[in-house]
Amino acid sequence: MSLEVTDMILEDLKRELIGRRVSRREDLESLVKNSLKRSLREILKKNYNETDLIRLIRDSNKPFIIIFFGVNGVGKTTTIAKFAWMLKRNGFSVIIAAADTFRAAAQEQLALHASKLDVPLVKGKYGGDPASVAYDAIQSAKSRRVDVVLIDTAGRMHTDKNLTEELKRVVKVAKPNMKILVLDSLAGQDALEQATYFEKIVGYDMVILTKVDADSKGGIVLSLAYKLNKPVGYVGIGQDYESLVKFDPEWFAERLLS
Ligand code: GDP
Repeated sequence: MSLEVTDMILEDLKRELIGRRVSRREDLESLVKNSLKRSLREILKKNYNETDLIRLIRDSNKPFIIIFFGVNGVGKTTTIAKFAWMLKRNGFSVIIAAADTFRAAAQEQLALHASKLDVPLVKGKYGGDPASVAYDAIQSAKSRRVDVVLIDTAGRMHTDKNLTEELKRVVKVAKPNMKILVLDSLAGQDALEQATYFEKIVGYDMVILTKVDADSKGGIVLSLAYKLNKPVGYVGIGQDYESLVKFDPEWFAERLLS
C-alpha cells in the first residue's frame, strides 16, 4: 500500500495504543489487531457508498445503460461478462454492445462470452464507429424490451487523443445511467493515474477493482479506496463468472488481517 496510507495507519495505532493501560488478562495481540482492523475499516470506508445496483436497475426506466471504461488488460471484458451473468441471475434481460471496434480480439472475446451466457451481442465492423454500435445496441434493447445494455469501450493507451474524443462521443450518444471504471488492483500507481485520466475526460460513478485474488492480500485496494474519491462497487476475485462480489469494507479489513 502507499506510504501515505501506511503513515495514516501508524498514526491511528499510535493514537489509540500509546499510553493505554493494559491489564494482565488482556491479550495484547488481539488488542493491536482490533485497533488495526478499525483503522483499515475507516480507510476502506472513506469513499464507500453502498450501491444497490440491482434495485437501482429495477426502479429505473428501461433500458438501463451501463458503460465500462478501462485500459486494455485490466479485465474489462471479463468484468462485463461477469456483470451480464449477475444481471441474468437476478432476472434481467441483457444486451452487450461490443463498442471496442479497434481491437478485433476484444470483439471476439466478448462474442464468446455472450454465446456462453446466451446474451445477444451487437458488434460493429472492425475500425467502425463505436458510437453507432452503442446506438444500435440501445435501439435493439428498446425494440426488444431488454432491461440492461452493457457497453464495452476501447481501452488502448490513455495517451491516445483519438480515443479520448471517441469515448466522449460514445458517452454523448449512449447517455448512460451509470459509468463504471475498471481498474486492475495489480497496477498500483498506474491505476490511480488511469482514474485521474478517465475522470477528466468522461467521468465515472463507480470503480470495479479486478484481480484482487491475484494480489496476495490486496493492500493496494486500501490506497485505491482511499484516494479515488469514488466508491469501489465490486471487486473481481477470479476468472469465472461468479467471482464478482460487492465490495464490503468490513470483509476486506478482515481479509487483510487473516
Ligand atoms: P481487457 O483487456 O480489459 O478486456 O481484459 P480481459 O477481460 O481480457 O482480462 C485480462 C485477463 O485478466 C484475462 O486473462 C482475465 O481472465 C483476467 N482477469 C480478469 N478479471 C480477473 C480477476 O478478477 N481475477 C483474476 N485472477 N483474473 C482476472
